[in-house]
This record gives sequence, C-alpha cells and structure tokens, in this order.
Amino acid sequence: MVMPAGLASAMVHSRATAPVALWRLAFVVLLTHFVVAVAAAAALDVAAKPCHSASVDADDGCLSWRVMVEANNARGWRTVPAPCVAYVRGYMTRGQYGRDLSSVMDQVAAYVDTVEADADGLDAWILDIDDTCLSNLLYYEAKQFGAYDPSAFKMWATKGACPGIPAVLELFATLQAKGFKVFLLSGRDEETLATCTSDNLESEGFLGYERLIMRSPDYRGQSSSLFKSAMRKRLVEEEGYRIRGNVGDQWSDLQGDYVGDRVFKIPNPMYYVP
Ligand SMILES: [Mg+2]
Repeated sequence: MVMPAGLASAMVHSRATAPVALWRLAFVVLLTHFVVAVAAAAALDVAAKPCHSASVDADDGCLSWRVMVEANNARGWRTVPAPCVAYVRGYMTRGQYGRDLSSVMDQVAAYVDTVEADADGLDAWILDIDDTCLSNLLYYEAKQFGAYDPSAFKMWATKGACPGIPAVLELFATLQAKGFKVFLLSGRDEETLATCTSDNLESEGFLGYERLIMRSPDYRGQSSSLFKSAMRKRLVEEEGYRIRGNVGDQWSDLQGDYVGDRVFKIPNPMYYVP
C-alpha cells in the first residue's frame, strides 16, 4: 500500500518530536518539585523564625536574670535592672508568679504530709513575713521596682495594708492544724513596726501563731541572715524547738545556722535582702 505523502510526512515529524515532548514534560515535573520544595523550606524558615526570635528578644535576657536570682547565683543586686522592670511587672502581675508560688506550695504540702508534730509541742516551722505571709507587690509596683528605700518602705508598712498571700495562709492553717508551732520571723524593726505588723497579720487572717519575732535594737544594722540565724539558734538551743520547715522569699531567710530540716524559697524578683 502506498502511504499518502502527507501522512508519511506527519508520522516522521511525530516520531521526531515525541522525545522532545517527553523531555519537556520531565523538565516541567522536576521544576515543579523544585519550586514546591523551595517554597516549603521557605515556609518552614518563616514559621520557625518568629518563635526563635520571640523567645530570645522578647524578654531581653530577663528570664535568665530571674532564674539567676531565684537560684541565688545573682547576689547583692540593689535594683531590678532597667531593661527588666517591665518583665518583672509582667511576671508578678500576669499569672506566672502565682503559678510558681502555687508550685512551691505544692512542694511544701507534699513535705508537710510526711512530717508529724510530736506531742511535746516542740516541732516548729519558721515563716518569713514580707512577701511570704504578706505581699508588698503594690508598694514595689508603685515604686517601679526601684532600689530599696528604707523610709518609704517603713511608711508603707506602717499603713498595715499589705495583702495576705492566700497560698501561705493556707499553709499556715495546715501547720497549726497538724500541731506545729509557727514562728513568724521578720527583719522588720520591732520598735517602730511591731504594732502595725501584728495588726496587719491579724487583719489578713494570720492568727494563733506561737510568736512574732522582729528585729530588736540589738540587731539593727546586721544582715538579715545573721539576725535570723541568731533567732533560730535561740529557739533551738535555748528553748529546745526542732525546726521542721522554713519558708521565705529571700535566701537570707533560708541560709545560715539552724535553718531547719527543709527550706522552701518563694519567688521574689523584686528586691534582694542580704
Ligand atoms: Mg521576706
């Protein structure tokens, strides 16, 4: 059979162009894969960057500074670093402080469950007052978390308006119900602040404690750590108490002599007391 010239020509052309079409198709497929892969990588990169940048930049290193404070690595600081004032305000007022405090109290409660008060009435707990039983957050917030100012603080304390810290009040009640003697030990000046402090404690529900121990004139000018060590030593050596637990917001509440069987640190990135 004789093939028409036009059809023969078309078949020759078709055989010649088929491989070209296949190569074109393969090229398009490869190019599409490449473009999709590049776009996906770019999307992952874009998605990852804000998280990373936010975690590093948003707190300006202040989370690390707070951890250093709580771990007692940062010592002797006189004021919250200026770049961290907003961070500390946020930490104290937007929930994280409350969650951390609650976690500490959970640990205290778990320990309290394991200890019993002896019938001799000599098993004792020590609780600090400022920012342990009573909160000074309103005062420090108003002062922009600045340097410690003894006269301004005394004016604030004299008002007797420090709110009680509910989680610590709950611990206070639990300890009393279990038969422990609770001593409230504070570096506040006894001569000038005893009445307003005991009134403030009473108004916030801290009732029935064994004794309120404050800084007498003999201990003025001494570090809190030395003063509190001396008071605990007296309780243990002279009065025979066994300190089963000790709770405070400063390491100076929890270090030194006769600190007790267990110590518990409540968070406080607002100020440092030596
Ligand atoms: Mg305190």
